[in-house]
Amino acid sequence: MILGSLVRVMLDIERARHVITLTKGIHFTDGAFTDARERLSLLTVASRVRPIALFLDFEKAGLQRLKDLLINIGFVAFVGKLRSSGRTSSDDSYTPEVVAVLKRYLSEDDHRALWVCNSSEDRQRIRNRATDFGALLGYPECCVHWDQQAHDEFVAAIVRASHGDAHEVERHLKQNIQVGVTVPHEDNVPRTERLYPFVMHIACDSCLGTGDSPSSLLNQQYQSLVRDVDALLHDVLLQLGEKAWRIHTATSQDEKDILFAEAESIYLRALA
Ligand SMILES: [Zn+2]
Repeated sequence: MILGSLVRVMLDIERARHVITLTKGIHFTDGAFTDARERLSLLTVASRVRPIALFLDFEKAGLQRLKDLLINIGFVAFVGKLRSSGRTSSDDSYTPEVVAVLKRYLSEDDHRALWVCNSSEDRQRIRNRATDFGALLGYPECCVHWDQQAHDEFVAAIVRASHGDAHEVERHLKQNIQVGVTVPHEDNVPRTERLYPFVMHIACDSCLGTGDSPSSLLNQQYQSLVRDVDALLHDVLLQLGEKAWRIHTATSQDEKDILFAEAESIYLRALA
Protein backbone atom coordinates (compact mmCIF):
# COMPACT_ATOMS: atom_id res chain seq x y z
CA MET A 1 0.00 0.00 0.00
CA ILE A 2 2.74 2.42 1.03
CA LEU A 3 4.81 1.30 -1.94
CA GLY A 4 1.77 1.84 -4.17
CA SER A 5 1.36 5.45 -3.06
CA LEU A 6 5.10 6.04 -3.37
CA VAL A 7 5.03 4.82 -6.97
CA ARG A 8 1.98 6.98 -7.59
CA VAL A 9 3.76 10.09 -6.19
CA MET A 10 6.81 9.36 -8.38
CA LEU A 11 4.59 8.93 -11.43
CA ASP A 12 2.87 12.22 -10.73
CA ILE A 13 6.19 14.04 -10.40
CA GLU A 14 7.19 12.53 -13.75
CA ARG A 15 3.85 13.57 -15.23
CA ALA A 16 4.40 17.16 -14.03
CA ARG A 17 7.91 17.19 -15.54
CA HIS A 18 6.52 15.88 -18.79
CA VAL A 19 3.88 18.62 -18.94
CA ILE A 20 6.38 21.36 -18.14
CA THR A 21 8.64 20.14 -20.95
CA LEU A 22 5.78 19.80 -23.45
CA THR A 23 4.46 23.29 -22.78
CA LYS A 24 7.76 25.15 -22.95
CA GLY A 25 7.04 26.46 -26.43
CA ILE A 26 3.55 27.69 -25.59
CA HIS A 27 3.09 31.35 -24.80
CA PHE A 28 0.71 31.50 -21.83
CA THR A 29 0.32 35.22 -21.16
CA ASP A 30 2.32 38.42 -21.57
CA GLY A 31 4.89 39.15 -18.92
CA ALA A 32 7.29 36.99 -16.94
CA PHE A 33 5.35 37.18 -13.68
CA THR A 34 1.97 35.99 -14.92
CA ASP A 35 3.43 33.44 -17.32
CA ALA A 36 5.58 31.83 -14.60
CA ARG A 37 2.54 31.70 -12.32
CA GLU A 38 0.48 29.96 -15.02
CA ARG A 39 3.15 27.27 -15.41
CA LEU A 40 3.19 26.78 -11.66
CA SER A 41 -0.59 26.45 -11.73
CA LEU A 42 -0.43 23.73 -14.39
CA LEU A 43 2.34 21.91 -12.55
CA THR A 44 0.28 21.60 -9.34
CA VAL A 45 -2.58 19.96 -11.24
CA ALA A 46 -0.29 17.74 -13.33
CA SER A 47 1.24 16.37 -10.13
CA ARG A 48 -2.28 15.96 -8.64
CA VAL A 49 -1.39 18.08 -5.62
CA ARG A 50 -4.25 20.39 -6.64
CA PRO A 51 -7.38 19.20 -8.49
CA ILE A 52 -8.26 22.18 -10.69
CA ALA A 53 -6.50 25.02 -12.52
CA LEU A 54 -8.00 27.96 -14.36
CA PHE A 55 -6.27 29.91 -17.15
CA LEU A 56 -7.42 33.34 -18.22
CA ASP A 57 -6.46 35.92 -20.79
CA PHE A 58 -4.86 33.45 -23.14
CA GLU A 59 -4.63 34.48 -26.73
CA LYS A 60 -7.01 32.28 -28.72
CA ALA A 61 -4.52 30.15 -30.67
CA GLY A 62 -2.39 29.43 -27.59
CA LEU A 63 -5.45 28.45 -25.61
CA GLN A 64 -6.57 25.96 -28.25
CA ARG A 65 -3.06 24.52 -28.52
CA LEU A 66 -2.71 24.07 -24.77
CA LYS A 67 -6.17 22.52 -24.50
CA ASP A 68 -5.48 19.97 -27.27
CA LEU A 69 -2.07 19.11 -25.87
CA LEU A 70 -3.45 18.52 -22.36
CA ILE A 71 -6.37 16.40 -23.58
CA ASN A 72 -3.92 14.27 -25.59
CA ILE A 73 -2.01 13.38 -22.46
CA GLY A 74 -5.03 12.56 -20.34
CA PHE A 75 -6.18 15.80 -18.75
CA VAL A 76 -9.77 16.99 -18.73
CA ALA A 77 -9.63 20.46 -20.28
CA PHE A 78 -12.40 22.67 -21.62
CA VAL A 79 -13.04 26.28 -22.49
CA GLY A 80 -15.90 27.98 -20.70
CA LYS A 81 -17.18 31.47 -20.20
CA LEU A 82 -16.17 32.86 -16.86
CA ARG A 83 -19.07 34.24 -14.89
CA SER A 84 -19.33 35.81 -11.49
CA SER A 85 -22.50 35.57 -9.39
CA GLY A 86 -22.72 39.37 -9.53
CA ARG A 87 -23.81 39.41 -5.89
CA THR A 88 -22.29 41.42 -3.08
CA SER A 89 -22.75 41.06 0.69
CA SER A 90 -24.50 44.46 0.85
CA ASP A 91 -27.19 43.64 -1.72
CA ASP A 92 -29.86 43.69 1.03
CA SER A 93 -29.18 47.36 1.71
CA TYR A 94 -29.39 48.41 -1.95
CA THR A 95 -32.56 49.08 -3.93
CA PRO A 96 -33.69 46.34 -6.35
CA GLU A 97 -32.76 48.67 -9.24
CA VAL A 98 -29.18 49.02 -7.96
CA VAL A 99 -28.91 45.26 -7.35
CA ALA A 100 -30.09 44.64 -10.92
CA VAL A 101 -27.47 47.03 -12.35
CA LEU A 102 -24.71 45.46 -10.23
CA LYS A 103 -25.74 41.96 -11.19
CA ARG A 104 -25.70 42.84 -14.87
CA TYR A 105 -22.28 44.49 -14.76
CA LEU A 106 -20.47 42.32 -12.25
CA SER A 107 -21.50 39.06 -13.87
CA GLU A 108 -20.54 40.24 -17.32
CA ASP A 109 -18.42 37.76 -19.12
CA ASP A 110 -15.33 39.14 -20.75
CA HIS A 111 -12.93 36.26 -20.24
CA ARG A 112 -12.39 33.06 -22.09
CA ALA A 113 -11.40 30.63 -19.41
CA LEU A 114 -9.61 27.34 -19.84
CA TRP A 115 -10.41 24.93 -17.03
CA VAL A 116 -7.99 22.06 -16.48
CA CYS A 117 -8.49 19.11 -14.14
CA ASN A 118 -7.81 15.39 -13.91
CA SER A 119 -11.20 13.72 -13.75
CA SER A 120 -14.79 13.92 -14.92
CA GLU A 121 -15.81 14.30 -11.25
CA ASP A 122 -13.81 17.50 -11.04
CA ARG A 123 -15.30 18.64 -14.31
CA GLN A 124 -18.73 18.20 -12.72
CA ARG A 125 -17.61 20.13 -9.63
CA ILE A 126 -16.61 23.01 -11.89
CA ARG A 127 -19.97 22.91 -13.65
CA ASN A 128 -21.84 22.90 -10.33
CA ARG A 129 -19.85 25.69 -8.69
CA ALA A 130 -18.50 27.64 -11.64
CA THR A 131 -18.77 31.01 -9.88
CA ASP A 132 -17.07 29.80 -6.70
CA PHE A 133 -13.52 30.08 -8.04
CA GLY A 134 -11.58 30.30 -4.79
CA ALA A 135 -12.87 27.02 -3.38
CA LEU A 136 -12.43 25.18 -6.70
CA LEU A 137 -8.86 26.37 -7.06
CA GLY A 138 -7.85 25.42 -3.52
CA TYR A 139 -7.28 28.96 -2.22
CA PRO A 140 -7.34 29.45 1.58
CA GLU A 141 -10.78 30.37 2.88
CA CYS A 142 -9.48 33.43 4.73
CA CYS A 143 -8.00 34.86 1.52
CA VAL A 144 -11.13 34.12 -0.52
CA HIS A 145 -13.25 35.82 2.13
CA TRP A 146 -10.89 38.82 2.29
CA ASP A 147 -10.94 39.17 -1.49
CA GLN A 148 -14.74 39.10 -1.55
CA GLN A 149 -14.90 41.70 1.23
CA ALA A 150 -12.44 44.00 -0.51
CA HIS A 151 -14.46 43.70 -3.71
CA ASP A 152 -17.74 44.41 -1.88
CA GLU A 153 -16.24 47.50 -0.22
CA PHE A 154 -15.16 48.73 -3.63
CA VAL A 155 -18.71 48.28 -4.97
CA ALA A 156 -20.18 49.92 -1.84
CA ALA A 157 -17.98 52.99 -2.48
CA ILE A 158 -19.39 53.24 -6.00
CA VAL A 159 -22.97 53.01 -4.70
CA ARG A 160 -22.20 55.68 -2.05
CA ALA A 161 -20.66 58.00 -4.62
CA SER A 162 -23.82 57.54 -6.73
CA HIS A 163 -26.07 58.33 -3.72
CA GLY A 164 -27.79 55.00 -4.27
CA ASP A 165 -29.14 56.04 -7.67
CA ALA A 166 -29.20 53.09 -10.10
CA HIS A 167 -28.55 55.25 -13.18
CA GLU A 168 -25.56 56.87 -11.50
CA VAL A 169 -24.21 53.47 -10.41
CA GLU A 170 -24.50 52.32 -14.00
CA ARG A 171 -22.72 55.44 -15.24
CA HIS A 172 -19.87 54.92 -12.75
CA LEU A 173 -19.47 51.29 -13.75
CA LYS A 174 -19.77 51.97 -17.48
CA GLN A 175 -17.23 54.77 -17.50
CA ASN A 176 -15.04 53.25 -14.83
CA ILE A 177 -15.21 56.52 -12.89
CA GLN A 178 -12.80 56.80 -9.96
CA VAL A 179 -14.56 57.06 -6.62
CA GLY A 180 -11.59 57.72 -4.40
CA VAL A 181 -11.15 54.11 -3.29
CA THR A 182 -7.84 52.43 -3.80
CA VAL A 183 -7.82 49.14 -5.65
CA PRO A 184 -8.14 46.65 -2.81
CA HIS A 185 -5.32 44.37 -3.89
CA GLU A 186 -2.75 46.95 -4.77
CA ASP A 187 -0.39 46.30 -1.91
CA ASN A 188 -1.21 42.65 -1.25
CA VAL A 189 -0.07 41.52 -4.69
CA PRO A 190 3.65 42.41 -4.38
CA ARG A 191 3.65 41.47 -0.69
CA THR A 192 2.28 38.02 -1.61
CA GLU A 193 4.79 37.65 -4.43
CA ARG A 194 7.68 38.36 -2.10
CA LEU A 195 6.52 36.33 0.91
CA TYR A 196 4.72 33.47 -0.84
CA PRO A 197 6.08 33.25 -4.41
CA PHE A 198 4.64 29.75 -4.90
CA VAL A 199 0.95 30.45 -4.30
CA MET A 200 -1.49 31.47 -7.01
CA HIS A 201 -3.93 33.58 -5.01
CA ILE A 202 -3.54 37.00 -3.41
CA ALA A 203 -2.88 36.51 0.30
CA CYS A 204 -5.12 38.26 2.82
CA ASP A 205 -3.76 40.70 5.42
CA SER A 206 -3.90 38.05 8.12
CA CYS A 207 -1.86 35.56 6.05
CA LEU A 208 0.69 38.27 5.26
CA GLY A 209 0.99 39.11 8.94
CA THR A 210 1.99 35.72 10.31
CA GLY A 211 4.43 33.01 9.27
CA ASP A 212 2.11 30.20 10.30
CA SER A 213 -0.87 30.97 8.05
CA PRO A 214 -2.83 28.95 5.48
CA SER A 215 -1.01 30.84 2.69
CA SER A 216 2.35 30.10 4.27
CA LEU A 217 1.58 26.37 4.51
CA LEU A 218 0.37 26.26 0.92
CA ASN A 219 3.48 28.12 -0.17
CA GLN A 220 5.70 25.53 1.54
CA GLN A 221 3.78 22.66 -0.03
CA TYR A 222 3.94 24.07 -3.57
CA GLN A 223 7.55 25.17 -3.15
CA SER A 224 8.72 21.67 -2.26
CA LEU A 225 6.74 20.28 -5.19
CA VAL A 226 8.25 22.73 -7.71
CA ARG A 227 11.73 22.03 -6.33
CA ASP A 228 11.19 18.32 -7.06
CA VAL A 229 9.68 18.83 -10.50
CA ASP A 230 11.77 21.62 -11.98
CA ALA A 231 14.64 23.12 -9.97
CA LEU A 232 15.14 25.91 -12.51
CA LEU A 233 11.51 27.04 -12.38
CA HIS A 234 11.81 26.92 -8.59
CA ASP A 235 14.75 29.34 -8.61
CA VAL A 236 13.09 31.57 -11.18
CA LEU A 237 9.90 31.88 -9.09
CA LEU A 238 11.97 32.80 -6.03
CA GLN A 239 13.88 35.45 -7.95
CA LEU A 240 10.73 36.84 -9.57
CA GLY A 241 9.10 37.16 -6.15
CA GLU A 242 11.98 39.32 -5.00
CA LYS A 243 11.94 41.36 -8.22
CA ALA A 244 8.19 42.01 -7.89
CA TRP A 245 8.81 43.54 -4.49
CA ARG A 246 11.70 45.68 -5.74
CA ILE A 247 9.57 46.91 -8.65
CA HIS A 248 6.82 47.81 -6.19
CA THR A 249 9.20 49.80 -3.98
CA ALA A 250 11.29 51.36 -6.79
CA THR A 251 11.21 55.14 -6.70
CA SER A 252 11.59 55.96 -10.39
CA GLN A 253 10.15 54.65 -13.65
CA ASP A 254 13.68 54.08 -14.98
CA GLU A 255 14.47 51.84 -12.05
CA LYS A 256 11.19 49.93 -12.58
CA ASP A 257 11.95 49.48 -16.30
CA ILE A 258 15.38 48.03 -15.55
CA LEU A 259 13.90 45.63 -12.99
CA PHE A 260 11.17 44.54 -15.42
CA ALA A 261 13.81 43.84 -18.08
CA GLU A 262 15.83 41.82 -15.55
CA ALA A 263 12.72 39.83 -14.61
CA GLU A 264 12.05 39.03 -18.26
CA SER A 265 15.58 37.77 -18.83
CA ILE A 266 15.49 35.65 -15.65
CA TYR A 267 12.25 34.16 -16.87
CA LEU A 268 13.44 33.47 -20.42
CA ARG A 269 16.19 31.29 -18.96
CA ALA A 270 13.55 29.02 -17.43
CA LEU A 271 11.92 28.51 -20.79
CA ALA A 272 15.11 27.87 -22.71
ZN1 LIG B 1 -5.47 34.21 4.15
